[in-house]
Amino acid sequence: MNKLPTPTYKDVAEAHQRILPYLNKTPVLTSRTINALTGAQFYFKCENFQRMGAFKFRGAMNALSQFTAEQRKNGVVTFSSGNHAQAIALSAKLLGIPATIIMPEDAPKAKMVATKGYGGRVITYNRYTEAREDIGQQLAQKEGLTLIPPYDNPHIIAGQGTAAKELFDEVGELDMLFVPLGGGGLLSGSLLSTNALSSNCKIFGVEPIAGNDGQQSLRKGEIIHIDTPKTIADGAQTQHLGNYTFEIIRHYVSDILTATDEELISTMQFYAQRMKMIVEPTGCLSLAAACQFGDKLKGKKIGIIISGGNVDIAQYGRFLAQ
Ligand SMILES: *Cc1c(COP(=O)(O)O)cnc(C)c1O
Repeated sequence: MNKLPTPTYKDVAEAHQRILPYLNKTPVLTSRTINALTGAQFYFKCENFQRMGAFKFRGAMNALSQFTAEQRKNGVVTFSSGNHAQAIALSAKLLGIPATIIMPEDAPKAKMVATKGYGGRVITYNRYTEAREDIGQQLAQKEGLTLIPPYDNPHIIAGQGTAAKELFDEVGELDMLFVPLGGGGLLSGSLLSTNALSSNCKIFGVEPIAGNDGQQSLRKGEIIHIDTPKTIADGAQTQHLGNYTFEIIRHYVSDILTATDEELISTMQFYAQRMKMIVEPTGCLSLAAACQFGDKLKGKKIGIIISGGNVDIAQYGRFLAQ
């Protein structure tokens, strides 16, 4: 397969046209409480209200809607235990494409049920003895499936960039934008939009402190690999950035910051209590890091990407009670 070129803002704008008919128009919310506390103006782009509960629908839909007739007939395969799996399963269902999702056999039952509910075929593997990439490659070869990875793919990146595009389209230029960071699909797409639509805006990727491989990679100038980090931010438990995502991130990002699980929990409580919203731990990374700036936020216009809202409800109850 030909290697696709690194995406640009043009790809984000084209992705937006392509996927717009399928998207939920997610709201940009404000909070008087946080504005009063910080002296800044905050704008929250609420992708927890996106279809399937996270921004990942954008990239998946953009990737799958560019399949050729033959790719559509044969189907798509991906490996993920999280939101990307559901995004691929839902997009495939909407487009009439067969979807195969490779999940660890000990993945949360709710996630497996949700993925199957969208009509996906789930194949399980033992995460301690088998490599999911190998299983994916083998299936792709044997059955002619197209493999769509969760972040290191130009179509995925372009699709994820449409959330920040919508934010700038709605509220104009910003001084600072905070974006949760796992493998970097969301951040790199957001960077393309920011560079095109608000070039003076400082943009920060935010990782869980236990999994700061992106921050280390930026400091060292090369992709750093780590063991799967222990954190409640399960959407950002990635072990390394991708080749495409790192290339864009190192070029445009202002910095990569971190947040602790404790900060994520208090941010989750803030969203629940003050904004009446369920936000999953990973979705809390952006605001948690913004709050670290204290007085430096005064008078600034701040964008916060809330990346998703999929959290086990019993677990969520325990987080709120802490
Ligand atoms: C996947 C995911 C992220 C991280 O996105 P990347 O593109 O991997 O950086 C952040 N938040 C949520 C809710 C996610 O599902």
